[in-house]
Amino acid sequence: MGVPVITTDYKPEPWLHAMHGMEREPEKGRRCQACFLHNLRATARKAKEMDIPWFTTSLTVSPHKVAADVFTAGQTASRETGVQFLAEDFKKRDGFKRSLELSNQMHLYRQKYCGCLFSLRVGDPV
Ligand code: SF4
Repeated sequence: MGVPVITTDYKPEPWLHAMHGMEREPEKGRRCQACFLHNLRATARKAKEMDIPWFTTSLTVSPHKVAADVFTAGQTASRETGVQFLAEDFKKRDGFKRSLELSNQMHLYRQKYCGCLFSLRVGDPV
């Protein structure tokens, strides 16, 4: 059984606004912390809107993401919305290796940078 995927319209302006002044921050810096919070807030709000009691994120599967920083953002979004945050470090128990195996099996594209245009410019790892 598959998991339904919910997407939103691509609207980069609010994210760019939230990152203002942190454009040149390195990976794991203040910009990434603000990015985690921005995106996890949106996830928590959507969960609340849909009456879903828990939310989490696959961000922690990356060895380049500090799980404690992701958890801080998730817990803030949880306090703001009342939706429970599952703080799970998915890179544990070879989670990153497994993600590579699965994405290879499914022929998924894996980009060579984290995802934002700033990480593309400075070549931050995924
Ligand atoms: S997309 Fe990645 S590199 Fe860019 S701000 Fe967010 S976490 Fe940091």
